[in-house]
Amino acid sequence: MASGLDIGAIEGCAFIDGEFRPARAGGVFPVDDPASGATVGHVADCGPDDAAAAVAAAAGAFAGWRDATARERSDALWRWHDRIEALAAELALLLSREQGKPVAEARAEISYANGFVRWYAEEARRGFGEIIPAPTADRRILVLRQPIGPVAAITPWNFPAAMVTRKVAPALAAGCTVVLKPSELTPLTALALAGLVRESGIPAGVLNVVTGRDAAAIGSVLTADPRIRKLSFTGSTAVGKRLMADCAGTVKKLSLELGGNAPFVVFADADLDRAAAGLIANKFRNAGQACIAANRVLVEDAAHDAFVERVATGVRGLVVGCGRDPGVTIGPLISERAAARVRAAVDAAVAAGARVVATAPLPPEAGPRFVAPQVLVDVRPGMTLACEEAFGPIVAVMRFRDEAEALALANDTRHGLAAYFYTRDAARLFRFAEGLEAGIVGANEAVVSNEAAPFGGMKESGIGREGSHHGLEEFEEIKYLCLGGIR
Ligand code: ADP
Repeated sequence: MASGLDIGAIEGCAFIDGEFRPARAGGVFPVDDPASGATVGHVADCGPDDAAAAVAAAAGAFAGWRDATARERSDALWRWHDRIEALAAELALLLSREQGKPVAEARAEISYANGFVRWYAEEARRGFGEIIPAPTADRRILVLRQPIGPVAAITPWNFPAAMVTRKVAPALAAGCTVVLKPSELTPLTALALAGLVRESGIPAGVLNVVTGRDAAAIGSVLTADPRIRKLSFTGSTAVGKRLMADCAGTVKKLSLELGGNAPFVVFADADLDRAAAGLIANKFRNAGQACIAANRVLVEDAAHDAFVERVATGVRGLVVGCGRDPGVTIGPLISERAAARVRAAVDAAVAAGARVVATAPLPPEAGPRFVAPQVLVDVRPGMTLACEEAFGPIVAVMRFRDEAEALALANDTRHGLAAYFYTRDAARLFRFAEGLEAGIVGANEAVVSNEAAPFGGMKESGIGREGSHHGLEEFEEIKYLCLGGIR
């Protein structure tokens, strides 16, 4: 077993059937450092042939992995967990270089990501079935939980480690094999994690990683193949809808974690210091590039100015720069296009009457992917900032008069992933939580993701849950076994 992370093995490769190997057609593509644009490494530019080879490997490995005992699978996941833990600092550095987030945040992501491996190493041994009392005396009703089969996982760039383990760990725990297509913007962390799967003694073909720039070509192989029984996708709503349609032909089970438009509601009776600190922690993690980031900050009139002042003070203290520089708390956005989109949404809001009340300074060397964190007030419902995910370091503040208006505004979106609210009124705490149309609700709490809790959305934010025991069920079939002739 190598003592460190073997980055050299990854260069120019994908990971198929237990081997780091080049694409069949031989192509590679570079992975950029978002802070400087410098090349961090290259990976294989896989096409449909490579995707098909990965599906064949996953299908070939399925029977052996399914038939391993729950304890064997659990032990293997523990070994993976321990390798990730041992190499956490190196993984964090790689993650920061390809994704841009500050190293301390990348280290926190590795820890969060490994929480899923730990959780599902434990959960792997708890795949209990049921015996249900039968309506007739001569029968017994047994319920078996079985792995659904080889699965496809497609992951985004914003959490290059956590989005991988949140899917792969429960899939492996359940007894499924996986073809993973990581984002073309951040494939190195996924490949490094796959190398550690191999070092953990998990058999060839159980996890395959197909990297490539033509996501649609790879995706269509995965969605069309009848051997792939499930697709787990995290990404944009538009791509999720397309994949959902593509999976109809083979009736695959689906988990979709799509976009959000999270409301963050501050009532006048709230602890404003706590609410402001919660907003800063929630909003600026990953420079705002998270689907559960607060997108519309709704503040009751009476608390508006006092709350905005607290948030403005916090924003002025943010330190923007390259994620490897000491003291930096906000890195660049993932691409120039992403940065341009955020700037355009801010400009459009200002042109329509919103006001910028605080800005964090950009360092002089900031390249085109950096966006200055800002606080805007007088944002109104029709503005792009209120209708679409900002996916950037922008706090968009709106006002409300009473609880009914707050709830109507909060739910006025086709999305329903996360929602947050702050109040000291116990009755309102229940009432408002129950009224929110969101799969994840933070009440007096704004940092809510962890491996023990079910993460997922309502409405157009998706289908299914990740994390917790519910995350394991997503990779299982329920089989009803009827035993007859007992008497
Ligand atoms: P984001 O806006 O977060 O980049 P995307 O939905 O574009 O979200 O990307 C999320 C993941 O989906 C990435 O791995 C990307 O390569 C992949 N992807 C994008 N388009 C397709 C497609 N047509 N088929 C399959 N995967 C796709």
